[in-house]
Amino acid sequence: MLVILLIATIFVGVLAFLGVRKKIILKIFLTSYIFIFLTIFFLPENNPLRLTLGVSLNEWISISFVFLVILGYIVVLKKIKTSNIVKYSSNSSKKNMSDVEIERYARHLVLKDIGGQGQQRLRNAKVLVVGAGGLGNPVSMYLAGAGIGTIGIIDNDVVSLSNLQRQILYREHDVGKSKVFATQKNILEINPHIEIKPYNRLLDSRNAQKLISEYDIIIDGSDNLKTRHLVNFACVKEKKPLISGAISQWEGQISLFDPSKNYPCYSCIFPETDKENLTRSCADVGVLSSLPGVIGSLMAVEAIKEITAVGDSLRGKLFLYDAMSCKTIKIEAERNKNCKVCSINEK
Ligand SMILES: [Zn+2]
Repeated sequence: MLVILLIATIFVGVLAFLGVRKKIILKIFLTSYIFIFLTIFFLPENNPLRLTLGVSLNEWISISFVFLVILGYIVVLKKIKTSNIVKYSSNSSKKNMSDVEIERYARHLVLKDIGGQGQQRLRNAKVLVVGAGGLGNPVSMYLAGAGIGTIGIIDNDVVSLSNLQRQILYREHDVGKSKVFATQKNILEINPHIEIKPYNRLLDSRNAQKLISEYDIIIDGSDNLKTRHLVNFACVKEKKPLISGAISQWEGQISLFDPSKNYPCYSCIFPETDKENLTRSCADVGVLSSLPGVIGSLMAVEAIKEITAVGDSLRGKLFLYDAMSCKTIKIEAERNKNCKVCSINEK
């Protein structure tokens, strides 16, 4: 009997090593099992085939019992996992995930540290993306793919042909159209189970604070210093975490600003008097086409981590990426006690 079990184990191991699908291995295993059972049950004891197998009926019944216990354990374990997903879904303020959504987010649901509860947090989250350009595109695409329930996008620009070199959400037929409406249409084609709120206007001092107050996390992918400082000011006033990214030529940077938790704000690191950070216009100095993809994806990663409360955030840290040399640096950044924004304007 031990010889048969050993052969069966080696056989299954070899099939698994060769990459044969589990279903096929299971079918081969069950066919072999039934064949041996029928041989033992129907053939006389002195039959050469039965003698070769060397297993008595009692021994085979014992093996079957162990086999059924293992099978029952696997089935029960699978049921518990499925019921966990449903239980986490029912904790939500939103309606439960549909079967289609469970299938859509399956890789998150089985991912350690996200699971059903994390996915529900993502579904309930509201994220505002400032700028629908090179950074705003990959950020909103990945946030949509991740199932962020509400994504707001503000920009007053239209798609131009020169955008298509790096703004991967747009197609040639989008040229001349409003960026936020093109974003809304194309994002909903990625994921129709979320809400996109397009704001086809310039973010200014009259609308910034009210708009930012309506969201949980703000992601700034704008391309000018004036907007960056405006977003930072409103985030400080509303105590909202700000994930800010910037790109120029071959270099990019990203950080999470949150002075409400005693970490620096954007102005602590880049005061309004400082013009030397990575916000020089891409139109003037150029930018590598795939660089916004790298930095924008990192911004989406940090947003997902923040919402699901997973991992170490970039609060108080500045992450720098140099594509030319493929070097990354993470530097500590402290809050400036004399900062003209967070030291004075925090509520
Ligand atoms: Zn500050």
